[in-house]
Amino acid sequence: MHHLQQAIGILGGTFDPIHFGHLRMALELHQALDLAEVRLIPCYQPVHRKLPVASPEQRLAMVRRAIRDEPSLRVDSAEIQRKGPSYTIDTLILLHKNMPHTPLCLIMGIDALLNFPSWHKWEDILTLAHLVVAHRPQYQLPTTGIVADLLKERLIHNTAEIHTKQAGSILLHPVTPLEISSTDIRKQIAMDRNPRYLLPDSVYSYIMQHRTYSISKL
Ligand code: ATP
Repeated sequence: MHHLQQAIGILGGTFDPIHFGHLRMALELHQALDLAEVRLIPCYQPVHRKLPVASPEQRLAMVRRAIRDEPSLRVDSAEIQRKGPSYTIDTLILLHKNMPHTPLCLIMGIDALLNFPSWHKWEDILTLAHLVVAHRPQYQLPTTGIVADLLKERLIHNTAEIHTKQAGSILLHPVTPLEISSTDIRKQIAMDRNPRYLLPDSVYSYIMQHRTYSISKL
């Protein structure tokens, strides 16, 4: 058996636009779990929600600007290059092929965990990645159902295990709650309100320059 490399974090999203809620979660989990890096992967076409407002290229450009000075965060354009509906399983298969000895930690909010059994090929996802769930105190974990059973079987408490096992564990970890949402930022911009301090200035200046969220586009 091969010795495993240090695990990496995977944070998928529409990032329409990326904001400090996403960035802070990625950075805190990078540090707390000793991840080699956290990879932000903007989707091309989300599967479970309506189409993003900004184009895939614009969302990618905004993520690049947001993480420019932070070496622990990286952007991966695999889903945008692949086009079509962005299924997480396809992305994990590709990552595993390129990094077969690196445990992959799929980062999600607790709200996403509650819907996880509706994801395409979710059982296969657990053979390729751990789930790292950013816990927020206001969300309750279920006590019955598929997710409750998954937690009973797979919940780990020792963070080091994400590095020593390839996949299949679930780790809950608290992050600083920042109630920022992309939808809210887009609305503020369309109403000519200033969204500064919710997202990096470099992303805001890109949005202003390209008129990404002007009222006619919402
Ligand atoms: P919208 O407001 O349009 O729904 P969003 O920011 O919630 O956008 P995504 O860009 O798809 O949506 O989010 C990517 C990931 O980041 C998801 O896993 C989501 O749960 C998480 N996330 C989004 N906002 C926050 C936040 N404020 N704090 C922590 N995690 C967040």
